[in-house]
Amino acid sequence: MDAAKTVLASREAVANALGAKVNEIYFTAGGSESDNWAIKGAAELGAKKGKKHIITTAVEHHAVLHTCEYLEKHGFEVTYLPVDEFGRVSAQQVENAIREDTCLVTVMFANNEIGTIMPIAEIGKICKEKKIPFHTDAVQAVGHVDIDVKAMNIDMLSLSGHKLHAPKGIGALYIRTGIVLPNLIAGGAQERGRRAGTENVPGIVGLAQAMRDACASIEGKNRITAQKRDRIIQELLKIPETRLNGHPTERLAGNINISIRGVEGESLLLMLDMNGIAASSGSACTSGSLDPSHVLLAIGLPHEVAHGSLRLSFEEDLTDEDADYIIATVPKVVERLRAMSPLWERICKEEGIQ
Ligand SMILES: *Cc1c(COP(=O)(O)O)cnc(C)c1O
Repeated sequence: MDAAKTVLASREAVANALGAKVNEIYFTAGGSESDNWAIKGAAELGAKKGKKHIITTAVEHHAVLHTCEYLEKHGFEVTYLPVDEFGRVSAQQVENAIREDTCLVTVMFANNEIGTIMPIAEIGKICKEKKIPFHTDAVQAVGHVDIDVKAMNIDMLSLSGHKLHAPKGIGALYIRTGIVLPNLIAGGAQERGRRAGTENVPGIVGLAQAMRDACASIEGKNRITAQKRDRIIQELLKIPETRLNGHPTERLAGNINISIRGVEGESLLLMLDMNGIAASSGSACTSGSLDPSHVLLAIGLPHEVAHGSLRLSFEEDLTDEDADYIIATVPKVVERLRAMSPLWERICKEEGIQ
């Protein structure tokens, strides 16, 4: 097959997986680029009509939050909706925040740290009724949650290849027909002239194949994965002074996020790594920064608790032996770290924990 045909077949595969039309899919270099394009583009369209208000949430990925902050510096007003204790916003909150001058609602599909899934179809319905463009950062959801952009009234959707086993550096933005988003990159006729530049053909082919594979049997895979997730959560919560972050049921099948008081996140990760468990504390993109996660703070955790959190992500190929190993290893590591933690000693003294 020649390159053009392969790219078309790939575009079809991505469109099919989302319930979109083939000419509504635009390949980009990843999730961050798609988010930037959708949000800045919708802002530019809004500004032309004198509408300079954007609604988003406090728990978005930085690709969305930092884009919104950029727009605030350029005369836009942004409402950051607070989330409940599980990290969710409601469609009612979105509806209440809509104003005459709202030009965009952008709410992530599933959270990258705590796995909470937002009520996207309900929010889409409100936005359709109010005729406000609705964008969702679905980077964590694509391939893990059934998505139908038409049924869910999604106008724009961002996705990224490397979050579903495609190569790094490829992503896509779905733009509903009728949304005339300003072009991202001026140049040649690639991506219908809206995002010019010679296509990343290997990336595109890889993304399409990953989408075919990941979207094939989401429900069956999720059932297996969620069973393992729930067993691990149940066991890890037996460690004293722990709590589950994120929604207990409305969450990604392969996400666990637990706060463990009296341990410091980075040391926990290091020790788990030495024991062969690749975990993460906040978001992978902010590792190296010592600020506690904005998501954990938004669900109401105090700084001290937000620092000691553990995130495990996996898929259906996690074996029962892997799960047993995690269940056996994490409590041992926590015990060792707590034994040398002045913070834990203070907590025990102050709260009378034996
Ligand atoms: C990873 C991620 C992104 C960024 O995607 P890149 O392809 O790395 O640019 C955006 N949003 C969410 C929710 C993510 O998890």
